Amino acid sequence: MGDMFAVVQSLEERQARTAIIVGAGYIGLEMAEALTTRGLAVTLLEQLDQVMPTIDADLAAPLADHLREHDVNVQHGTKVRAITANGGALTVDTDRGNHHGDIVLIVTGVRPDTELAATAGAELGLRAAIAVDRHMRTNLPDVYAAGDCVHTYHRLLDRHVYLPLGSTAHKQGRVAGVNALGGNATFAGSLGTQAVKVFDLVTAGTGLRDHAARDAGYDPVTVATTDDHKAYYPGATPIRIRVTADRSTGRLLGAQMLGSRGAEVAKRIDTFATAISYGATVADIADLDLSYTPPLGSPWDAVQIATDTWRRTVGASA
Ligand SMILES: Cc1cc2nc3c(=O)[nH]c(=O)nc-3n(C[C@H](O)[C@H](O)[C@H](O)COP(=O)(O)OP(=O)(O)OC[C@H]3O[C@@H](n4cnc5c(N)ncnc54)[C@H](O)[C@@H]3O)c2cc1C
Repeated sequence: MGDMFAVVQSLEERQARTAIIVGAGYIGLEMAEALTTRGLAVTLLEQLDQVMPTIDADLAAPLADHLREHDVNVQHGTKVRAITANGGALTVDTDRGNHHGDIVLIVTGVRPDTELAATAGAELGLRAAIAVDRHMRTNLPDVYAAGDCVHTYHRLLDRHVYLPLGSTAHKQGRVAGVNALGGNATFAGSLGTQAVKVFDLVTAGTGLRDHAARDAGYDPVTVATTDDHKAYYPGATPIRIRVTADRSTGRLLGAQMLGSRGAEVAKRIDTFATAISYGATVADIADLDLSYTPPLGSPWDAVQIATDTWRRTVGASA
């Protein structure tokens, strides 16, 4: 909140009309929308070749197009080298030329602030986050930790990763609180389930993408579908879905989606997250009794069409 108030104060003091955002992760995209809505001309710089590096390029490309349709100047494949102030204006020097703005936001990731804990003797894990077990215990007696400052147990990988999310922080906080009061709660683990709204689109993902699944020893195959139930109802919008599952067992490993704000993308990714949590295969999804009403979907929901497409594409074995 402190950062947010500082940004608002800076926008007002500088009477900012142009903004440069460095980093096109979900926070960079949310800020691009917020500042555009506020009337600023926004340039979004990203060193990788796509926006939103946590989704596959096939979904990131239409998302970047959507930002451009809303007048955001999206420049990916652009690495920032320096930022300099000349009087009021700021110049961002990149490997592909300079950009000028009244305000620059740097949103290139988070780092756990664990100095206090480390000084007290807490063992640090991945990315210098506090090492905890699944009871959220640190190595120090009676000291529990949760949230962005700790590493997080991943359900599918069966190991700790650094995955700072508010959804996870809440659950870990409850486990830590219960155990600090003498209870015996265990953190079930994260799948990195996440959704973000960018203007009129929502993108969401859960579980593992191809490269992470392969690194974890699976033999992943990702199959893309575009579900468009417009034959059933006017005004329906397409949902792009990418399903990742293990080739030989058909075990569901991950899913990614992009669709319009009204298309219930976030709740549909939650169907995948639930299925992954219980070890479902793509075939299991077809048997789920999911709701149907013409304004919202088809008799086979978009998640079922996507998994069925995976099954037909990869073969009957799954
Ligand atoms: C712009 C933005 C959008 C986000 N959107 C989402 C989202 O849509 N979904 C999602 O799941 N997650 C989202 N997140 C991530 C989410 O906010 C964090 O994962 C979550 O807030 C972590 O909770 P926490 O309690 O660990 O840390 P925080 O919420 O950061 O709280 C830590 C608190 O501790 C205080 N503190 C630090 N050091 C000390 C000290 N020495 N003494 C006393 N107090 C101290 C800090 O001031 C702070 O108030 C977003 C984050 C940002 C920045």
